[in-house]
Amino acid sequence: MKKATVGAVVVGAATVVAVAALVARHRMKKSSKWTRARAILKEFEEKCATPDAKLKQVADAMTVEMHAGLASEGGSKLKMLISYVDNLPTGDEAGVFYALDLGGTNFRVMRVQLGGQDGGIIHQEFAEASIPPNLMVGTSEALFDYIAAELARFIGEEEEKFHPPPGRQRELGFTFSFPIMQTSINSGTLIRWTKGFSIDETVGKDVVSELTKAMQRQGIDMRVTALVNDTVGTLAGGRYSDKDVSIAVILGTGTNAAYVERAQAIPKWHGPLPKSGEMVINMEWGNFRSSHLSLTEYDHAMDTDSLNPGEQLFEKICSGMYLGEILRRVLLRMAEEAGIFGDEVPPKLKDSFVLRTPEMSAMHHDTSSDLRVVGDKLKDILEISNTSLKTRRLVVELCNIVATRGARLAAAGILGIVKKMGKDTPRESGAEKIVVAMDGGLYEHYTEYSKCLENTLVELLGVEMSTSIVFKHANDGSGIGAALLAAANSHYVEDKSGK
Ligand code: ADP
Ligand code: MG
Repeated sequence: MKKATVGAVVVGAATVVAVAALVARHRMKKSSKWTRARAILKEFEEKCATPDAKLKQVADAMTVEMHAGLASEGGSKLKMLISYVDNLPTGDEAGVFYALDLGGTNFRVMRVQLGGQDGGIIHQEFAEASIPPNLMVGTSEALFDYIAAELARFIGEEEEKFHPPPGRQRELGFTFSFPIMQTSINSGTLIRWTKGFSIDETVGKDVVSELTKAMQRQGIDMRVTALVNDTVGTLAGGRYSDKDVSIAVILGTGTNAAYVERAQAIPKWHGPLPKSGEMVINMEWGNFRSSHLSLTEYDHAMDTDSLNPGEQLFEKICSGMYLGEILRRVLLRMAEEAGIFGDEVPPKLKDSFVLRTPEMSAMHHDTSSDLRVVGDKLKDILEISNTSLKTRRLVVELCNIVATRGARLAAAGILGIVKKMGKDTPRESGAEKIVVAMDGGLYEHYTEYSKCLENTLVELLGVEMSTSIVFKHANDGSGIGAALLAAANSHYVEDKSGK
């Protein structure tokens, strides 16, 4: 790349220089090829470095932005959305409740039967469907009709014992994982679509009334009693099984976090103080940014080429949608400038997002002595055959750099939350336990990533605090969480505080 620029300056000689560069690459000796590849790797590694001191700066920046976002609407890149969830599940919830989850790769309908005090979850059943791509960019009516029709089918097939008593409506918790400006526990307007959805007419509308209208069109008699983000749902689901859960983090296609804030510490909250004194905040932390994030030229280029340049920078470093793509960009540079895959640059390597994070994680986790999985993946996905062991090792090293940076920065983000909650130092009464409910495909399947994240947070908190932090995988907590919040906010319960 640099050579071409120099050539362009010397007018007339540009072509000559370019040809010379090409010839040089063809003749590049093995040793110089590896020197160049190592140099690219080393530079990338240095730019990606996340020493503890830097992570602490990131954590502090996160805390500062949290304060700013809570102080006023638009006060920070962090939206710090008020969820209206001020009564998290207590374990006393009872009855049959439904949940609907829209906003991930799949769309789900769920029924949960809760047994009340000490009864736990008696029954749980779900149906899953993917949203047809044309509905993601169609009309609001078509999308919500499709969802309501799936719901109608689910209810149509259920056993009689789950039917509501006469005169009582079914109640639903709606997990809607897009940024919402909530106006009550069961109403809110859509700020914008993300994750490939784009239905302009819905922006600014109340999604609960859109869903309710669609349910009426489908002849379903159901009331939406809770509208929740998936991260808030995960927090609720996590709290139900462990009373010490106060933070939830999702690391899947995207990333987000929610936590329990003192209501009095939310200047932009003008409503009455909730009885519990608490309020769950949906941070929308994927949009966090800081000068301390270890961004490289590859990140900047990926951001520029993205659908939302300048937005969701934290997400673009840490989450599943992007890790594989960052790796691809570094490999492409190595192919172009160091010829690591031979004289020709493999054409497939030029396709954006061709290398997905599950594939990257499979390569990273390859423990075979000849790195067979790496070889197979390079062949299957990028059509690069006969890679040497040395090349495969290089790929694994790159996977490690990309995953480590993402995991360590995500850990720094959590430290920022722990600090905001004032739980980062031991109290006189002994350290408070902090349980973080974790969910998402990246966290669940990319073991090197999740191990690194957990170890990093423990390391950052220091020995004294290290035993008080616990990570808990809340497997599909958001669905159960939404049903629990529907229960906690039931129309038929007098005292909604659950106490
Ligand atoms: P969503 O975030 O879309 O709601 P999930 O929580 O199931 O859905 O996360 C799916 C994402 O998790 C995928 O887009 C991918 O980035 C990541 N992922 C899934 N499987 C793996 C895997 N084996 N290794 C690494 N990442 C994975
Ligand atoms: Mg999800």
